[in-house]
Amino acid sequence: MRTLPAAFAAYKWAPSTEELARRVGLDPVDIVRFDGNVPASPAASARPATVAAALARVNEYAHGGYPELVRAIADYAGVEPENIVLGAGADDLILLCARAFAGPGDQAAIADEPTYPLFAVAVALAGAEVGTDDPVVTFCCRPNNPTGALDPLPAARPLVVDEAYWEYAGETAAGLINDGVIVLRTFSKAFGLAGARVGYALADTETAAELNRRQAPQQVSAISAALALAGLADPPDVKDQIEERDRTARALRALGLEPLPSRTNFLFVPVDEPEKVGEALLLRGLVVRVFPNGIRFNVRDREDDDLLLEGLARVLDRPAPVASAGTRKTRVLRATAETRIRVRLSLDGASRVRISTGAGLYDHLLEQLAFHAGFDLVLEAVGDLETGPHHTVEDAALTLGEALDRALGDRRGIARYGDAVVPMDDALARASIDLGGRAWADVRLEREPGLAQHALQSLAQAGRLALHVESTGSDEHHVAEAAFKAVGRALRTAVRAESTGIPSTKGVL
Ligand code: PMP
Repeated sequence: MRTLPAAFAAYKWAPSTEELARRVGLDPVDIVRFDGNVPASPAASARPATVAAALARVNEYAHGGYPELVRAIADYAGVEPENIVLGAGADDLILLCARAFAGPGDQAAIADEPTYPLFAVAVALAGAEVGTDDPVVTFCCRPNNPTGALDPLPAARPLVVDEAYWEYAGETAAGLINDGVIVLRTFSKAFGLAGARVGYALADTETAAELNRRQAPQQVSAISAALALAGLADPPDVKDQIEERDRTARALRALGLEPLPSRTNFLFVPVDEPEKVGEALLLRGLVVRVFPNGIRFNVRDREDDDLLLEGLARVLDRPAPVASAGTRKTRVLRATAETRIRVRLSLDGASRVRISTGAGLYDHLLEQLAFHAGFDLVLEAVGDLETGPHHTVEDAALTLGEALDRALGDRRGIARYGDAVVPMDDALARASIDLGGRAWADVRLEREPGLAQHALQSLAQAGRLALHVESTGSDEHHVAEAAFKAVGRALRTAVRAESTGIPSTKGVL
């Protein structure tokens, strides 16, 4: 093989979630990653149904490429299909640009330091050197990783601008593609498709044709192309992520830290002894990226970011800016061909409940249950609602039951039994619960809005609880709502931590 420069350092991936979990003795599901600069959940369109047609033809090559995807990208980027080069992520296009422009004896410039390390890797792999002596090409990351800064565009040409995070900044160099600028973008960040590995370059017609000539044949799989195309049908709105970033930055400042101004979905926070801070956060299941002078982490959502803020406060020995969620908590991700459900549950919460499954009435019912149980609960689902709410409601209840079972652990020290009577106008519901570990459901609703009874039965099954519910009344919504509230009240009593012993005369549950 051709020798690489002595100082060459290969791109270094962070360890897998499983490895990190092993290292700190946690279940992988309780590891929360803030180090990939990606959203907390996949795009809503990333569902089995989206790739079903591509799977049905996965024995074939995608002859002729992906003209539909190229057209959709061109429309999204405001250019023509002739200006597009596809790649397996922006990384692939960084490597392509480096080898297309630079070779042995050449220097290629990299605009910022620190910046995305793959530029230097790509230059070295092309046989060239990083330097500013009459560079054949200049790489620039805008907004910059890891700082989050949106600095002025360098005047150098040809200029490769990595816009992996452009959706968050809203500023692009795409208008300069006829002026020696190549823009690189990705579906990995705002679109939530990092594992699919799809990126694209925007360049003037000749440069794009030349890059396409030098690109490996069909770098993008048909499955990934289908995911990207579906993503483009409903491009992401990053407003919430930006608000969440700014909220997190304010909370960090309240902690006495000074996050750098960011135009991305992540924050760089200078800290003393970043290695130690990173290790201490990891012991709590929180993974950030450690740099010599600070840590970097992406925002996820309020609940996860609060975990990080609380963790940082503990690690730095400062008062927590947010209420604690307690220790009896868990996360569950359940994915089937029909639904994808993500649950975060804390039994000792403060009734902070957020449920979004798209099955409106049942969101409301589960919200009542969790609120009256005093849980912190986030339950998010993406399901095949086009076939009706059945799969989504059932899987949501099963996943909540599974989370309850996990959060209860060996059920040592809990009250075990709980009961409640809840009136609601014309309706009256009674619920009794035994958290002894054997599943049983006797749920009698005089009227039924559709799936209320089935949801409670599914909860009992997966939660390994005996549940007796009776609810009567003249309005079906009241009957169901009173029942869910009563189950919540009964759960509140049954999960209460009372002692350290096993709540059974048998000594086992
Ligand atoms: N460019 C920058 C600046 C990045 O931060 C990343 C992600 N780490 C990438 C490119 C890689 O993107 P992709 O997943 O599209 O290869």
